[in-house]
Amino acid sequence: MTTIANRPEPMLLPEYCKGCGRCIDSCTKGCITLGTEINPLTGLVPVVLDLERCNHCGLCIEACPEPFGLNPEGDEAAFEVIDPAHVSGPRPFDAPIPEPWPDAIVPLPERTTLVVKGTYAAAMGAVLAGCRHVFGYPITPSTEGAELMAKVQPALGGVFVQAVSEVATVNMMYGAGGAGKRCITFTSSPGFSLMLEGVSYLIGAEVPAVFVNIMRGGPGLGNIAPEQADIKLACRGLGHGNTKAIVLAPATPQEMLDLTMLAFELAFNYRNPVVILGDGYLGQMTGQVRLPDHMVVPGIPEWAVWGDHSHRGNLICSIELSEVGLEQHNQALDAKYARMAAAEQRADLHRCDDAEVVLVACNTPAQLAKGAVKELRAKGVKAGLFRPITLWPFPVDAFATLLPAARHVVVVEASSGQLEDELRLALSHADLPLPSLSHVRRQGGMLPSQREIVDHVLAVSNASLERVR
Ligand code: SF4
Ligand code: SF4
Repeated sequence: MTTIANRPEPMLLPEYCKGCGRCIDSCTKGCITLGTEINPLTGLVPVVLDLERCNHCGLCIEACPEPFGLNPEGDEAAFEVIDPAHVSGPRPFDAPIPEPWPDAIVPLPERTTLVVKGTYAAAMGAVLAGCRHVFGYPITPSTEGAELMAKVQPALGGVFVQAVSEVATVNMMYGAGGAGKRCITFTSSPGFSLMLEGVSYLIGAEVPAVFVNIMRGGPGLGNIAPEQADIKLACRGLGHGNTKAIVLAPATPQEMLDLTMLAFELAFNYRNPVVILGDGYLGQMTGQVRLPDHMVVPGIPEWAVWGDHSHRGNLICSIELSEVGLEQHNQALDAKYARMAAAEQRADLHRCDDAEVVLVACNTPAQLAKGAVKELRAKGVKAGLFRPITLWPFPVDAFATLLPAARHVVVVEASSGQLEDELRLALSHADLPLPSLSHVRRQGGMLPSQREIVDHVLAVSNASLERVR
């Protein structure tokens, strides 16, 4: 039988003690006092034990909120702090050039077409892109992507962690991405808002990560219907400071898969987060999906904070206290953004060759606009659909090719004008003239219907065409 007398004495591990003093209050024998010396490993002041009068009651061990602050004597070996230098040697002053550890592309056999919903398709794209680290906090209408990952990642030797919040999620992505790992999260508008401080850190530290944001109605909690509420946030507001990221806008479950695979490629090419903006319908919509002809087995990038000797000199961090240094860092980021803007514009042009009326739409509203184009063409209106696939950078170069023939532009969107603002900004920055322009908008989770689009085009653009003639 265990008695107080034969219980072990408490043992303090100073490197785990934060000096809170709770153990002092719990000890009726006065064995524990506040310390006076800073522990060089932690910068904190651990308590001091004098166990001459200790009766082994164990109350101090119970009182300690730290998992390893106070422990029963005899467990010392289990808590020995091992310097990582014993594995890879001391941290070098002159960092060696890391050995290359490239990605491998594995061909896949042809498979029959699947029928899956958009969130599942994005999860499959992530798996095929070599993502084995998934962090998330559930939020409708994105949760099914995380649910599927929770099932498949353990079977693939990967990791799925449901974090305590979106803030914790994005910081887990910072850690995994900093180690050169491909990581993703599934979230929706209010959750994405919470992640933005971390996104700014990721961009500042040049850490790749992929965010799938299945947008819903706002502001605030709004509802769970498919508003395109976060175009402004993703294109213009990714946290504090000089932040930009490539923003992809899929319109079908197939594109949810394809663009998620592309997102990892872009994230690692540019060492920058990539945002995939879907909407609530697209996340839940079921559609045919063809698997690609290859998958990726990722290597370890040379910049990664990785535990082998050749990566020992690496450091990932977003702080730069020198004003000159921070300006130079921002100038380097600006140059990277310029490279993205020049090379990564993507758009789908549907029946635009001779279009006098150009509809501009993305995500699910683009599907409705496509139906409107067909109906308008049947009525003799030369209509076309310009669908930006990258919302940032906006594909203004492709749009510029339509301006000579376009008499009128109609922006179709499920928001208060966030896509139209991106179009207007892109035209302004490119010194291009603003065409005759109007819009069909719905909010609150309502989508513009094909009927509304056709009626608007017939009413507005015909009047505009008449004026021009
Ligand atoms: S085991 Fe009991 S008596 Fe001993 S230091 Fe802890 S609280 Fe005090
Ligand atoms: S309760 Fe734990 S963390 Fe707090 S002072 Fe005591 S040993 Fe340190």
